[in-house]
Amino acid sequence: MTKTVNHWIGGKTVEGTSGKYGPVTDPATGAVTTQVALASKEEVDAAVAAAKAAYATWGTSSLAQRTTVLFRYRALLDAHRDDIAALITAEHGKVHSDALGEVARGLEIVELACGITTQLKGELSTQVSNRVDVSSIRQSLGVVAGITPFNFPAMVPMWMFPLAIACGNTFVLKPSEKDPSAANLLAELASEAGLPDGVLNVLHGDKIAVDGLLNHPDVAAVSFVGSTPIARYIHATASANGKRVQALGGAKNHMLVLPDADLDAAADAAVSAAYGSAGERCMAISAVVAVGAIGDELVAKIRERAEKITIGPGNDPASEMGPLITAAHRDKVASYVTGAAAQGAEVVLDGTGHTVEGFEDGHWIGLSLLDKVSTDSDAYKDEIFGPVLCVLRVETYEDGVALMNASPFGNGTAIFTRDGGAARRFQLEIEAGMVGVNVPIPVPVGYHSFGGWKDSLFGDHHIYGNDGVHFYTRGKVTTTRWPDPADAPAGVDLGFPR
Ligand code: NAD
Repeated sequence: MTKTVNHWIGGKTVEGTSGKYGPVTDPATGAVTTQVALASKEEVDAAVAAAKAAYATWGTSSLAQRTTVLFRYRALLDAHRDDIAALITAEHGKVHSDALGEVARGLEIVELACGITTQLKGELSTQVSNRVDVSSIRQSLGVVAGITPFNFPAMVPMWMFPLAIACGNTFVLKPSEKDPSAANLLAELASEAGLPDGVLNVLHGDKIAVDGLLNHPDVAAVSFVGSTPIARYIHATASANGKRVQALGGAKNHMLVLPDADLDAAADAAVSAAYGSAGERCMAISAVVAVGAIGDELVAKIRERAEKITIGPGNDPASEMGPLITAAHRDKVASYVTGAAAQGAEVVLDGTGHTVEGFEDGHWIGLSLLDKVSTDSDAYKDEIFGPVLCVLRVETYEDGVALMNASPFGNGTAIFTRDGGAARRFQLEIEAGMVGVNVPIPVPVGYHSFGGWKDSLFGDHHIYGNDGVHFYTRGKVTTTRWPDPADAPAGVDLGFPR
């Protein structure tokens, strides 16, 4: 154990006082490298108090003050891309190039926040009645909390706090305890950029910290990204406490491949989207639905590509896929592959038992490909969150869409076809929040919002983009009359104004 990750509260490192720490592991070696402080309820109170005190001035700061800090922050993040990515790889395990991609997608939202001036302009209608004008403005909420998952330790926090603070809120971030270090570097760089103390706080912890935030009277809103059962819990608890809440959950993302698709392109896309980041992406493709007679050829092409993927430590430039986050998670993922044949699937590739020479204690698993998977098997029904791709076969486009729409999840989805009419129909008929047409992972750019349907999102706001600004602000409408001094007094009128 070489390092301790502490809280970042009020613009400085604050040592944990609960006496409780969680282990942080390097997934490539299996070694515990770090311990992370786990907050007590009193430490939650201290973080919220720091954010509340900072809101007194940040909430009324000028837009120019806020954007000056954000532009500086953008430059610092850009200069530290490699440092952030290295921390992600060391604790999450994903390969360095993938970690850099995560930082780039997070930076997009900081860039969006730099342009908050145009998004907060409000609306004005003049002369709606005689000498009456109406203006609509949006104002900040106060203290906002963000609770984030392990799989994007930098990007998902950056989906939240840059827009929240640009809108004038102050923020308490509760990152995943599995890979906590990147969040502290993000906060330290924000301080270096000139963000006043207490505007962005990082509170590490587990359920105690989360529950402390959900039940705290001074927390106005909660953004959550994580698994579906916890998203459901966060939404129910925060809503019951009168807070605004957006809770993004898990997924089972399907890719429909029509008989007219370019099968080489579809196979490339399926392999990239299923096995990238070892399948630990909420937008990973985990089910390919092959329509008509293309199944055998498509499976052969996916297999040929999957067999060539190099697995190894994320900091080795030769590695294309790294280890899984924990040994327990690796074993759970493996159990789906081991149990697949008994539930009727053909195991085309079995990645269980894979190991990497010199790194035998790492959380390794190879790529698995399951064909002819049935919709009532565990491998299909559950979000596996590992490098396991299920292929299902259907006769028609309609059968494929019906199968996909029967899934309780509705995060991302994709269609592969050369038929524009079919793609257009799919876009309208599919029950998911993000649709790709010949794009396997349709994560929206920063200025469009990200979010799923059904069990993939609880609450009605998607994250970042216009929905993000809307979530982190509340509306106020002012109706104004300035009578002309020459006018006679209007007199009393008890009638309903028309
Ligand atoms: P998780 O739900 O286990 O944890 C997410 C956060 O909730 C963490 O900060 C954790 O400390 C906290 N938490 C965990 N258990 C809790 C409990 N019982 N009470 C209160 N808080 C609790 O998720 P994870 O394993 O870190 O991340 C993977 C999951 O996140 C996958 O299901 C993935 O699909 C999902 N995810 C979704 C999106 C999206 O945009 N929809 C994006 C990324 C990840």
